[in-house]
Amino acid sequence: MKRPKILVLYTGGTFGMDENLEIPDLSAPALKKRLLSRVPEMARIADCTIRVVFNLDSCQMGFEHWLKLAREIRSSARDFDGVVILHGTDTLAYTAAALSMLLSPCPRPVVLTGAQKPLDSLRNDARSNLLTALEVAGNGPRELSNRVMVAFHDEVYLGSRVRKHSAFDFGAFESPRFPRLARVGSGIHYEPILRSLPKITKKAPWIDSIPDPVPSLPRILKIEVTPEFPSESFEGDWLKRLDSILLTLYPSATAPTMHPGFMEFIHRAGKNGTNILAITERSHAPVHMGSYESGKVLKKAGVKWCADLTPEAAYVKAMLTHLLATTPKVFDRLWDHPLSDETGGAV
Ligand code: ASP
Repeated sequence: MKRPKILVLYTGGTFGMDENLEIPDLSAPALKKRLLSRVPEMARIADCTIRVVFNLDSCQMGFEHWLKLAREIRSSARDFDGVVILHGTDTLAYTAAALSMLLSPCPRPVVLTGAQKPLDSLRNDARSNLLTALEVAGNGPRELSNRVMVAFHDEVYLGSRVRKHSAFDFGAFESPRFPRLARVGSGIHYEPILRSLPKITKKAPWIDSIPDPVPSLPRILKIEVTPEFPSESFEGDWLKRLDSILLTLYPSATAPTMHPGFMEFIHRAGKNGTNILAITERSHAPVHMGSYESGKVLKKAGVKWCADLTPEAAYVKAMLTHLLATTPKVFDRLWDHPLSDETGGAV
């Protein structure tokens, strides 16, 4: 059988670090030699072309790195059957969300993976994660052919729905509000949910509309509500300098709205033209802002609800929406339009 051609984009992370978690000097030929000597089976699964795009701890990655990866995939992916990205786990969820939104519809399946233990350690997950990612990218079903996914440990998820939830377990990721796409055991079992993923209908991916060079990036700050929210600290000019606040509400999408200072802060932000985008972190079931009185108050005050987006996906969507929107009205229109790959088609 002909082996699929896979483009492997290396970006760094624990996967390729040495046993002391230090970053080695890596060129593409050196990485290829190392990968093939540690994981010779990869050559049985696919004909791999390896490129070192970055060699960073993913805590150092941000918008320019997402854009560079997206552009690399946009320009090269059609020469391959699939793309695998090796990435640090700390910000993998942000990159996966960014690529999902920038590239949709993706020219080829893109599978991100990484590791909790470096490839050089005795008990490592790097080897099996790489093999799974190559299999999914090279031989996955048709329904996944234009999606961004994350393969980690024994699961495959939609890229826009993952969160890192453990720095210890090999199962480092979860997809709290969308079912996994596949389960890995003695083989790869693709779940029936694949049949109900709607087609991605968008014609041109967002990446085509991102200005080049990118003007200054939007300023987005994440804040979590607490009892006795210190609203008075949010006075003064600095609120004016924020484009959006990602506000983490209590788990049932509520906030201390009877606290007079809190609502004053919400109204002040609105007057300054700062969007307040509300998320919840800890619920695995769908939550609705407005089920409780407090949520209704927030809605009435103009707080925008992120529905079941993960905080990482909400952050990325806010950043891209700001970059694409020329006016607040366009921002609202884009924000309210859920992307099928952002939700997995769940709405
Ligand atoms: N700090 C590392 C990174 O995100 C952690 C990892 O890769 O697991 O790059």
